Amino acid sequence: MTLLEVKNLDAGYGQFQALFDVSLNLKEGEAISVIGANGAGKSTLLKAIAGTVNMNSGDVLLDGQSICDMQPHERLLQGIALVPEGRRIFRSLTVKENLLIGGYSSRSGSWNVASILEAFPILENFIGRDADRLSGGEQQALAIGRALMSNPRVLLLDEVSLGLAPIVVKQLYAALPIIRNKGCALVIVEQDTNQALAASDHTYCMLEGRISLEGKPSELTREQISQAYFGLGAHA
Ligand code: ATP
Repeated sequence: MTLLEVKNLDAGYGQFQALFDVSLNLKEGEAISVIGANGAGKSTLLKAIAGTVNMNSGDVLLDGQSICDMQPHERLLQGIALVPEGRRIFRSLTVKENLLIGGYSSRSGSWNVASILEAFPILENFIGRDADRLSGGEQQALAIGRALMSNPRVLLLDEVSLGLAPIVVKQLYAALPIIRNKGCALVIVEQDTNQALAASDHTYCMLEGRISLEGKPSELTREQISQAYFGLGAHA
């Protein structure tokens, strides 16, 4: 059953249009990925779903109901949580304090400090440590954990792997099946195509603000993906 639907979305920043006629579907418990080069519009799409970017036209629906008129905090209470690019954790607060703040506007559910630490063992020994003393990977785990504390139905993940060593990325991605098993659907935005395709049931590729390709990762060829990603042959 469809949980989240984006329909013919146009959005941007003031006069600048960043998204053109973007549509996608996310089913309950599903993981979809959105891939594309720098500036393709991936982050803008996540922000439009979370309500932090103005839409020009189109619709965003949760359980078939439009949420376009809702503020970001209202969308969070409806179950849409964003892990923004760059993490934006509270660096002067401890790991535990960051997590507790994430639970402040919370729906009921099974995520709490203990279950976050189970999903992200790399945080276990640092619960009382100031967040600015964490490594990049630990900070990313904390950013995801903080979003999970709101007990979301949809988790929007923006560039989880950015700037992190492959082994750390592997540790972070290992938590995604645990999150899905708890009933949370995922929208994974990545420039790292391999990582995104491996972690998702369906992928959307963006190019210059539009969806240039979509499909099941197992059914798309490397050639189709690189054409849609880089726009090669698009004007041939
Ligand atoms: P990246 O991986 O570099 O973040 P992206 O695919 O997420 O790329 P967006 O960040 O969504 O792309 O950017 C889409 C377009 O919107 C780009 O042309 C970008 O320059 C522009 N843009 C992004 N943020 C703003 C902003 N705050 N004000 C104006 N333009 C913006």
